[in-house]
Amino acid sequence: MSTRRAETPLGPVRFDHGAQFITAKGESFSTLLQEAQTAGAADLWTGRTVSIDRGGNAEALRDKTRWVGTPGMSAIVKHALDGFEVHTSARARHVSGEPGAWTLHFEDGQSDGPFDRLALTLPPEQLIEFLARSDGDFSDLIAEALEARLSPCWAVMTVPPHPVDLGFDGAKLLGGSVRWMARMNSRPGQDGPDAWVLHASPDWSEAFLESDPETVTRALTEEVFIRFGLPMPEWSQAHRWRYALVTDAPGMPYRLDPSGTLGCAGDWRLGPRAELAWDSGDALGDALAD
Ligand SMILES: Cc1cc2nc3c(=O)[nH]c(=O)nc-3n(C[C@H](O)[C@H](O)[C@H](O)COP(=O)(O)OP(=O)(O)OC[C@H]3O[C@@H](n4cnc5c(N)ncnc54)[C@H](O)[C@@H]3O)c2cc1C
Repeated sequence: MSTRRAETPLGPVRFDHGAQFITAKGESFSTLLQEAQTAGAADLWTGRTVSIDRGGNAEALRDKTRWVGTPGMSAIVKHALDGFEVHTSARARHVSGEPGAWTLHFEDGQSDGPFDRLALTLPPEQLIEFLARSDGDFSDLIAEALEARLSPCWAVMTVPPHPVDLGFDGAKLLGGSVRWMARMNSRPGQDGPDAWVLHASPDWSEAFLESDPETVTRALTEEVFIRFGLPMPEWSQAHRWRYALVTDAPGMPYRLDPSGTLGCAGDWRLGPRAELAWDSGDALGDALAD
């Protein structure tokens, strides 16, 4: 749920280059989003969404409540963290100490603690590395994290030279390399130049995982701009989400270590949606508070 602010030749643009919109089925996440809306950090996206098949036939997507952050997705995360003391840009390396007195060590050599409880919400790959370097009995946590699978997603942020109305603001594309495209300036709180995010399909992203961003940008923009007859973009940039969408999840919202004072959570435990990440963290929070 991140937002990238880019300076383009046509002006500044906020790109939501990860999650495009989020949905809430349960009460806990719905309440969070409603509170974020009241605080001005979220709103409903009412853009025209369609599914387009290989032959170019468009069909409206099923109606559902689609939430976005305002002015960008990351605003929802910031809202959820309001009131907490947050330290960013510090990469946790390992934990030492003992249950009830955990010390966290960072890659820059700094450390912090001791902490009574520790909630680890790293993606599985990073969690495994972190735990393998740490003191403690974390074999069950590592074994479970090894079961999780995430597929990658190449995203391209792109700005055409002038606005063109394609008749939709978000499209699921069937066939081809690009799976999804969305118009950033159709989102509440976003004006500025016409700007799109393109997401490649999991298969394409996997096949071109190690390609350079320029090659990926060219391949994906050419496919979409030619398909829809858009003038070639004025500005584009690619971002690789190496661990994007959960395909295999252990299915339990959290897992504690044998002492019950350290645990892990994240979307990878339940499935590829922001709400599931929230539910997982919520459940871990309750378990650690017991
Ligand atoms: C391209 C894409 C499209 C998506 N589309 C949708 C969508 O349409 N709808 C939807 O509901 N969801 C969507 N999602 C999924 C949604 O974004 C995720 O489910 C959710 O953000 C996961 O939250 P999380 O906290 O579990 O993990 P993350 O958001 O991955 O957070 C993990 C954090 O751990 C940090 N970290 C990693 N290693 C370390 C370390 N060693 N020390 C400190 N920090 C570390 C990372 O920097 C990251 O901030 C999409 C995701 C992607 C990538």
